[in-house]
Amino acid sequence: MAAPGRSLHGMRGMAAVPSYVVMQPTTLCNLDCAYCYLPFRATDRRMPVAVAEAVAASVNPWAASARFSVVWHGGEPLAAGREQLAALMAPFGPEVEHHVQTNATLIDDAWCEFFVAHRMRVSVSVDGPRERNGDRVTRSGRPAYDRIVRGVAALRRHDLPFSALAVVNDPAPGRATELYDYCLDLGCEVLGVNIEETEGVNTRTNAHDPAVVTGFWAELVAAWRRQPRIHLREVEWSLRYAAAVLDGNADDLLPRHLDPIPTVAYDGSVVVLSPELAGFTDPRYGDFSSGNVLTTPLHAILADAAERTTWVGEFLTGVEACRSSCPYFGFCGGGHAANRYFELGRFDGTETEHCRNSKIRLLEGVLEHARNHQSPGA
Ligand code: SF4
Repeated sequence: MAAPGRSLHGMRGMAAVPSYVVMQPTTLCNLDCAYCYLPFRATDRRMPVAVAEAVAASVNPWAASARFSVVWHGGEPLAAGREQLAALMAPFGPEVEHHVQTNATLIDDAWCEFFVAHRMRVSVSVDGPRERNGDRVTRSGRPAYDRIVRGVAALRRHDLPFSALAVVNDPAPGRATELYDYCLDLGCEVLGVNIEETEGVNTRTNAHDPAVVTGFWAELVAAWRRQPRIHLREVEWSLRYAAAVLDGNADDLLPRHLDPIPTVAYDGSVVVLSPELAGFTDPRYGDFSSGNVLTTPLHAILADAAERTTWVGEFLTGVEACRSSCPYFGFCGGGHAANRYFELGRFDGTETEHCRNSKIRLLEGVLEHARNHQSPGA
């Protein structure tokens, strides 16, 4: 059994030590967004404190030697309630950073005080102005937008910095500028943009005209360059890659081993690499989990997850196929396991609509913007 430690213990391409862990305090979500991938969001299955204690036993030593985060993700994590969330956070040491991804509808003054007391960093899901949030609805089908805005207003009243995560299902011309300008007014510090993905229980198509998606990303860069007040997650990744290519160090940018990014589900089961696979089963791959922290320490699960989990080995074969065939590999690193599974039905394929939308066309959009704004004579 491997001891918790910081060294990268090569496992056919996956690191033994993650940089963060995703925790699911409850499967329940109080919203019912049309594009959501979660299978059990209508039921309240709560994580017992014993699961958090087991995870903390591996995480605390990691956090003592390097920066380490726990990301509370749901369902809607705030639906677990403050008392339950505090009990789940208690086993983690003071070095561990806590983040929460929330739909913001439950945030009020009491939650803001909780975030301050627990030094919790907040990311809210919002898709732009009211008319772009049509997919974000309550369980009774009512628009959630006013409640989202009320939650964000509470964060601002308490001077709490926050990030925003937006899902874009129609990257039509004008949408990127609209989204960026909206986020400037919203007051977020960081913006992450996801082109809607076909995964989990969401079977809507994510195929788009390539030129439209490239244009979306190019337009987003242009909007950001006019007022670069928000950290734009995807654009910063692309610019970092472009700078590394120009400096001749692009090979150093990708980590030597994939971050396993373990997701610990409410019942203690651990799914590596893709939180979106948690809760699904397949006759070939079982429940996708690599173990359960209630019976095996997290560090031990990660030490041989690649060898013992059929689909992970298949995914690593797919990553090698990407490495040898895709000119975008140096930027992308081989894509996400869940996108391959839900789009291709297996893990050892290569291109997906997701990687076309969010890796290939992202990089092309950034380069298109650069080409269109070259100084004369350059
Ligand atoms: S862009 Fe797609 S095909 Fe290329 S490396 Fe990434 S996942 Fe693989």
